[in-house]
Order: sequence, then structure tokens, then C-alpha cells
Amino acid sequence: MYFHLIGNFNTSAPVDQADEDVTDFMNAANETLLAKGAPLGKGARILDWRIEGNKIHIEIDSDRYVRAHDAILRLKKPLAALLGKKHRIGIRGIEIESFVARIPSDNPVRATNIPYVSKIEFDCGEISITMEIDESQIQNKIPDRIITLIEDKIAAQEYGGKEEHWNLLWESAEKPILNNDDPTTELLDRNWIRHGAARGQWIHGPEITRIFRAFESIVKKEVLDFLGYQEMIFPKLVSWDVWKKSGHAKGVYPEIYYVCPPKTRDPEYWEEVSDYYKVTHEVPIKLIREKIGDPIGGLCYAQCPPFWPFMQGRTIADETFPVRVFDRSGTSHRYESGGIHGIERVDEFHRVEIVWMGTPEDVVQESERIQERYKYIFEDILELKWRKAWVTPWFMAQEGLTGTAGSEKVGTIDYESLMPYRDGWLEFQNVSVNGDKYPLGFNVKSQSGSELWSGCSGVGLERWASAFFAQKGLDYENWPSEFREIVGELPKGFVFM
Ligand code: ATP
Ligand code: ZN
Ligand code: MG
Repeated sequence: MYFHLIGNFNTSAPVDQADEDVTDFMNAANETLLAKGAPLGKGARILDWRIEGNKIHIEIDSDRYVRAHDAILRLKKPLAALLGKKHRIGIRGIEIESFVARIPSDNPVRATNIPYVSKIEFDCGEISITMEIDESQIQNKIPDRIITLIEDKIAAQEYGGKEEHWNLLWESAEKPILNNDDPTTELLDRNWIRHGAARGQWIHGPEITRIFRAFESIVKKEVLDFLGYQEMIFPKLVSWDVWKKSGHAKGVYPEIYYVCPPKTRDPEYWEEVSDYYKVTHEVPIKLIREKIGDPIGGLCYAQCPPFWPFMQGRTIADETFPVRVFDRSGTSHRYESGGIHGIERVDEFHRVEIVWMGTPEDVVQESERIQERYKYIFEDILELKWRKAWVTPWFMAQEGLTGTAGSEKVGTIDYESLMPYRDGWLEFQNVSVNGDKYPLGFNVKSQSGSELWSGCSGVGLERWASAFFAQKGLDYENWPSEFREIVGELPKGFVFM
């Protein structure tokens, strides 16, 4: 990595009178100030400098250790002290004339419209990035963020060709497979579901609703009550502020259902919209677009982030631990585009979200307890053919990152079930240890001062139903007896002529 910077210290008076002192300062800086903290022989170097009236013109280059832009900041204070004390000259500020960073890369990188970047070029195994910045951007770490962004893009591009991170942890024995058809087709045939009016949305009839409720009651009894979880209600409209703290603001844009409030609720302002509709029986979308405000966020995407403002900025009393809560109060929404398939992948879905928090050891142990409970459910109640895999943590995936987290205890376990009709597997839920990401992001502390971690698990009801029906079919008589008992008598739904 290489940085090259040309800039000026702008001064309050001509610097010629201080020539000798500045010369001594600059001569010493390469060995002292600019080498501090860097391995021997590394760091930043002043390549050239000269006094030009009310400016000290300077050229610096560096490797990754004391980056050239940090180097110029490092020089400012001691230089100001020197000029101020002896010569009564102040430094007004730093002006950057040219700043280029070079990163090694085998390939060009796809990057357009990056703030503060005026040019990106690829040549001879290097990407060079020209930035238009001033002192305040350096202070706000903008150049470093740009470098990280480009490095992440290079890594993602390299990773792009490879398979997603996936490591089998466990696989169940074979189970009775009683169906070989796509369950959605059969659900439609029996009028258990029908397409909703919006894309990727289903209306669930009485029979399948009973099944969803049976799944919920299993989770409630065997996981939540068994382990002592308390129910909460999490918001379902998520503001940017939450997604900034949860990291979703880094990458979730292609899948969000955006929410825009009206610019005003004044009926007069909206009258022309109603009038237009009344006359034409068409909703004037264009006109509405003019009358609504900017998106304030989106509909629930991952279920746990909007819980965290409840904790934000607080110190949790010891008596409150361990924190064990869950939410089942509403839908999640994702724009799945061409990926939607039956009830397996939909734009509107139902999920029970389980969240726990405590010391790192507690959180990891809790994840193991939850996994034990799930195992009991899938083995003994639903009798599924299923498996578990260690995958890229969901919170990284949703930030657009690949690979795994730094710690081997932090990450996501995907649960997958066999889908006989397509000879493949479907992710139907996950269990994650999220490390300190959320307590840190939302500034949550514990009374004892011990480190806080959190975990979460999302039980997708459409996915459970897809998994179950795909293996066991829709015929009640064929279902495992323990499950039949929980379901009770199946309601008699609709018959259409
Ligand atoms: P996939 O890879 O199948 O898209 P995902 O990795 O996007 O899943 P997560 O973000 O980990 O899924 O979401 C957690 C859970 O939410 C999933 O295990 C699943 O049960 C449910 N879920 C996610 N997206 C959908 C969807 N489009 N339709 C139905 N359920 C979903
Ligand atoms: Zn979660
Ligand atoms: Mg997805």
C-alpha cells in the first residue's frame, strides 16, 4: 500500500523569518515524529518541502504504517507550537493539493460515485485512488474509510467466484419421506393458500394458519417457556438510525421495502389525489410521489435490530440477567425480486425472533441450549431430515460481507431441511452468536461492567411449513402423531365452486 500527498500548512504570516527552525524541524521529523509507532524503516517520509510566503508546501509519501494523511496531521501541532512560541505565527489550516493512495490488486475494482474520490485507475497490479479532501475529512477518517471500502470490494470480488462459506456441522439420520411434490402446488390445489394482491405475499387459510400456530406453540413450549423467555413487541417500521447502528445501512438497500410518510396530513393538500381517483378510478402514482416525503426507513427486515433502542444507552442491572426475550408481533418484508418461490421465498413472511444477552460465556452456552431444544423438535416432534451448517454470520451477510467473523465463537448456524421435490436443501431458520456487535453498536452496558454479547435466532414459519410439507405432505393422517396432537383437529377451510 502506498500513499502520496502534496499539501500546504497555511500560516497567518510569512514564514521566511522562521526558515532555520522549520528546516531543523523538517529534517528531524522523518526519524522522529513520522517513524513513531511504525516498524523500523517503515512509516511516512517528507520527500520535499519549501516555504512559499504564507504557506509551507510539503510532499509526503508513506506505506500503510503512518499513512501520509495522518503524517501531515501529526506534523501540525508541534509545528504550530514551534512557529507560535518563537515567531508568533499561527497555522490557519492544512490544505491538500493532491492525494493518491495505491492498493495492490490483481483486478480492477467496480467503484463509481464514491464520495471524495475523483478518479480510480487500475494499472500494473495496483489500484490508484485520487481523493479530493481537506483537513476535516482527514480528521473524520474519510481516507481510511475509502481504503477499507475499496479493500472490501476487492475481497468481495475475489470471493464472488467462490462458493459461499458453508461448513457442515451435523446431519440427521434419514426420516420417512412421504411426499415428492412441491408443497406450494398442493397447498394451492387444496385452497389452503392464495396469492395476496401484493408481490411475494400469500393469504393463509384456516388450515395452514392452524399449522403456523402449532409451530409457534411448539417453539413457545419447547424453547421459550422451557428456557425462560419473555415476550416483547418489537417495532415493525425501522428507521435509518437503527440500521446505521445495526450495520444494515451498509448493504441492505436492494431488499428494503421503503417507507415514506406524507409531506403533510392536511386534507386539502391531498384533495387533488382523491379527486383524481374518484373521476378516473386510477390511483395517481406520480402525483402521490410528489406529495410524499423522503423514506424514513423501511419495513422490518431482520427482526431484532428495532428491539435494541429499548436497551440503547442504558446500563442493565445485574438482576435483569440473563436477558431472554422474543417477538412474534408482525411480519418481515424483503424485496426478493426474481427469487420468490411458492411459500419458500416470499416478500412478506412471519417469524418468531428470539434474542438473548449476557456475558460471552452465557451467550455461547445459551446458543447451545437453544440448539438442543431445536434438535428435540426436529427429531422427535416433526421427524424431519435436516442438517446444520456454519455459515457467514447473518449480520455480516446483510452488510454485504463474506467469510466469517474474527472469533470462532461468533457466527451463524443455518438449519436446512431436505426438499425432496427438488432434491435440494432449504434454510428454514438460524441460530447466531452475534458477539459484542449489538451491545457495542447501541451502547449497552452491564452493572457489573462485564463484557456483553448477544445472540438471536429467527424461526421462519413459512420455511418450517415448506420443510414439513415437502417431506410429510399435506395429509393429516400421515403426520407424526405427536405433531397431530399439537395441531388438534384441522379446521375445515374453504370449498369454492
Ligand atoms: P436465504 O439465504 O434463504 O435468502 P437469508 O440468509 O436471507 O435466507 P436470514 O437473513 O438469515 O435469511 O433470515 C433468517 C430467517 O428468516 C431465515 O432462516 C428464514 O427462516 C427467514 N426468511 C428470510 N428470508 C425469507 C423469505 N424471503 N421468505 C421466507 N422466510 C424468510
Ligand atoms: Zn436477529
Ligand atoms: Mg435472503
